[in-house]
Amino acid sequence: MTGRDGFSAEELFTQTTGWAYNDFIILPGFIDFVPDDVSLESRLTRNITIKVPMVSSPMDTVTEADMAIGLALLGGIGIIHYNNTPEKQAAEVRKVKRYENGFIMNPKVLSPENIIDDIDTIKTQYGFSGIPITEDGKLGSKLVGIVTNRDIDFEGNRGRKLADFMTTNLVTAPQGVTLSEANRILRESKKGKLPIVDKDGSLVALMSRNDLLTNRDYPLSSKDARKQLMVGAAISTQDEAKERLEHLVEANVDVVIVDSAQGNSIYQLEMIKYIKNKYPQLDVIGGNVVTAEQCETLIKAGVDGLRIGMGPGSICTTQTTISVGRAQATAVYRTARLASEYGIPVVADGGIATIGHIAKALALGASTVMMGSMFAGTHEAPGEYFYDNGVRLKKYRGMASAEAMEAGGSKRYFAEDARIIVAQGVSGAVVDKGSLFDYIPYLIQGLKHSFQDMGARDVKVLQERIYSGELRFEIRSGSAQLEGHVHDMYSYKEPTYM
Ligand code: GDP
Ligand code: GDP
Ligand code: 5GP
Repeated sequence: MTGRDGFSAEELFTQTTGWAYNDFIILPGFIDFVPDDVSLESRLTRNITIKVPMVSSPMDTVTEADMAIGLALLGGIGIIHYNNTPEKQAAEVRKVKRYENGFIMNPKVLSPENIIDDIDTIKTQYGFSGIPITEDGKLGSKLVGIVTNRDIDFEGNRGRKLADFMTTNLVTAPQGVTLSEANRILRESKKGKLPIVDKDGSLVALMSRNDLLTNRDYPLSSKDARKQLMVGAAISTQDEAKERLEHLVEANVDVVIVDSAQGNSIYQLEMIKYIKNKYPQLDVIGGNVVTAEQCETLIKAGVDGLRIGMGPGSICTTQTTISVGRAQATAVYRTARLASEYGIPVVADGGIATIGHIAKALALGASTVMMGSMFAGTHEAPGEYFYDNGVRLKKYRGMASAEAMEAGGSKRYFAEDARIIVAQGVSGAVVDKGSLFDYIPYLIQGLKHSFQDMGARDVKVLQERIYSGELRFEIRSGSAQLEGHVHDMYSYKEPTYM
């Protein structure tokens, strides 16, 4: 055989045409493994690795705590939007961080003098009701008992004191115990909670049996060193972002995204330097960018990851209205190639509509993909379902739609003091997708099949083959695209997901 069949990514994406995901196809490789052998583990940033390379968009119809909890449990990560007050955004981050724990280092505590109604209030606000009781109701004081739901669920008089209901003969573990040992004690005690006490019997932490079950049931989950779920948050490049950051850092956010439509700006560079200087331990993703030159500027300013895309989003009108941007497949390849020289991972953001698009983004060098419309119809997205002509729908809107900007979203588009609003997005609806807990496993399985057909067992191997030229591609003609879709059928049923 003379020369290799197909073309390398370098050959395809250095032409004068900008290509979209649908314009090309990946040629098959050699299979010597089953889909279950595929690892999708990938880097979100310089320091954060996740097991499933899927990220949800920071949009007010996509990511609040429920989406971020679901995604993190399933192996991805959610980025909380900032079309809200700093306090509200930080509260969403906190909900994610509190959801699962190793040691709960700041558990809610009450005293024997508190009443059942105080537990009801905690239950409403935080969702749990297993409360350790210390002498004076503070962490660090002598542990005297514990009250859980079962102690109080049948009591009609919610004004009665906890002293009358608390369990006092407790199984505890000593301060300094390892997480594994504490988990063993918790399992063997068959109790729901394990208080951790110092040598004087004062409460220092708490553990919950439910977290052991969660850990068992979600082996892919994205967790930090404390076994809390990971979560990101977006901020603007404007001054208000500095106060917002303080709230987010205090809530233990794992990564922030500096969100602007065109990221190659003095405002973004200053914000990145400010964050890196003030919070050196916090990973920062810069963007959005679509050219190698834009990437280089942000990398030199210190970003730990890059977000790629200008105009490919399903709700987006930027390329039509403003005429600046780039076709997404070309943007992903050109930026990822440059960033790979610095070891910085890129997130392919926007324009993903099928599993195949996710596979293509990764095959062009993206380490993760960010999706809005793919997740906006799930149960876990904010907002209620409604019906139109009998179809169950959820609202989905661009953050630069007139509607979202009126609600505060203009920060991304430098329009904060503009008197005339030029929208760069639309507002509409997407079809019900059911729960993330069914949908993500489906996407994962589909993606594993794709990796198998490409002949790559994991993201690292795939990326090596992109740059060595081993992974081969081809442009699809218009009729190739038609041929590659269902055709010549009298009727057929669209699959639920693609
Ligand atoms: P793993 O892969 O998540 O189990 O991570 P490690 O190997 O670091 O786990 C160390 C110990 O922590 C093991 O005993 C795990 O079962 C336990 N562990 C992991 N996640 C959690 C959690 O969310 N809560 C509790 N209580 N223990 C956890
Ligand atoms: P409970 O029995 O009603 O307290 O609830 P579970 O034990 O079923 O679940 C409590 C969940 O909330 C676990 O995932 C805990 O890690 C988490 N959590 C976070 N902060 C706290 C806290 O301060 N107290 C308690 N009890 N749980 C907390
Ligand atoms: P989707 O996954 O729906 O195709 O695209 C989501 C992405 O579109 C977001 O992550 C964000 O980068 C981008 N986006 C969100 N809102 C707007 C908007 O109003 N205008 C533009 N140009 N892009 C938007």
